[in-house]
Amino acid sequence: MAETSLFQPDLDFIRRLKDTGGDSLKRCYQCATCSVMCKLSPVEKPFPRKEMLWANWGLKDKLVGDPDVWLCHQCNDCSLNCPRGAKPGDVLAAVRSYVYENYTFPSFMGRALANPKAQFWLWLAPVLILFIILMAIHNWNFDFLNDAEVEYKHFFPHIYLETLFIGGNLLIFIFAAIGLVRFWKSLNHPAVQGGSPKFLPSLISTIIEVLSHKRFADCVQNKPRYIAHLLVFYGFIGAMITAGLAALLTTVLSGVLHFESSGLPYLLKYPIDLPHPVKILGVLSGLAIFIGGLLLIISRLKGREEVGADSYVDWLFLNVLFLTALTGLLTYVTRLIGIPILAYATYFVHLVLVFFLLWYAPYSKFAHMFYRTLAIIWAKGVKRGEPRGER
Ligand code: SF4
Ligand code: SF4
Repeated sequence: MAETSLFQPDLDFIRRLKDTGGDSLKRCYQCATCSVMCKLSPVEKPFPRKEMLWANWGLKDKLVGDPDVWLCHQCNDCSLNCPRGAKPGDVLAAVRSYVYENYTFPSFMGRALANPKAQFWLWLAPVLILFIILMAIHNWNFDFLNDAEVEYKHFFPHIYLETLFIGGNLLIFIFAAIGLVRFWKSLNHPAVQGGSPKFLPSLISTIIEVLSHKRFADCVQNKPRYIAHLLVFYGFIGAMITAGLAALLTTVLSGVLHFESSGLPYLLKYPIDLPHPVKILGVLSGLAIFIGGLLLIISRLKGREEVGADSYVDWLFLNVLFLTALTGLLTYVTRLIGIPILAYATYFVHLVLVFFLLWYAPYSKFAHMFYRTLAIIWAKGVKRGEPRGER
């Protein structure tokens, strides 16, 4: 007698996918054109046809532990070739949002970042925190606003800045790690194919692949996204290196070790200003994020089919990223113009945006970077199969 399986569809999960960009999923009639079109899909157990079937049946447990959902890079080659307009690229994106929203710690933050109604409170928190710190630093005395020269370190001293953003982010990345461990365990669930991955060799190979953006380059229809993503990615890495070096020079060397700038080699001198290499790196990184973010926004505003569904989480992340880069560049410009009130107001807005971007990173679309990297490590480790595009 044939073996029978009992499936318990999760109707709330189906509704959730439909509400977050996967509204076309019921159109799928399982022709498998999408799996044939996807260059990132391996020959063995290809995606996204099987994911469309699981999504239609509301098989949440299978989808949240499915690494293939993360091997998809949302190029939408599948969606543009689906004879039924079922848009598997959008459905997989909706599953990814669901995953990092639900694995995050604390989980209410994951839900808040996915809920437009919570946005007011999410913005209010950094505004209040930064405002209170400013008031405590200056004791309601803002005489420095009358100075002819704009000095951001007088407005918000480096030591407070580093504590808030470097110290605070160490905490937030511990929270992020909890979500990632939960995700990793789900990948090793018996319901998912494969064995135990060899972590280190897979990690090295994945890092090389991420740095080259090789999988994005395999996209056919949405090729412009490759350039934009590359700019944002390297811009962000450059900005992080800039922040680290600036903290080292201005806080550690000057504030903690009390080294005199005049006695240091040129590369270690502070304050950091053009043409100091750290400043140049910061400006170039800001420009890369600004241009990459602008390209991504323009392609979405044009409503091109290749881009896929306009979900709230996508727009929120994109806007915050773009505005962070824009205000970062404006802080430099307004300082050169020399209008203190304008410069400090721009700097305050920039800090609010940086807070939003970094403190909420484990709960926003930002997190996809970490989840996708882990899924690729896992796939390489268990020899899940090469993407078809590599053959
Ligand atoms: S999503 Fe479209 S292309 Fe893929 S199996 Fe369903 S109907 Fe076919
Ligand atoms: S969006 Fe692109 S990468 Fe993702 S399943 Fe479709 S074709 Fe493959």
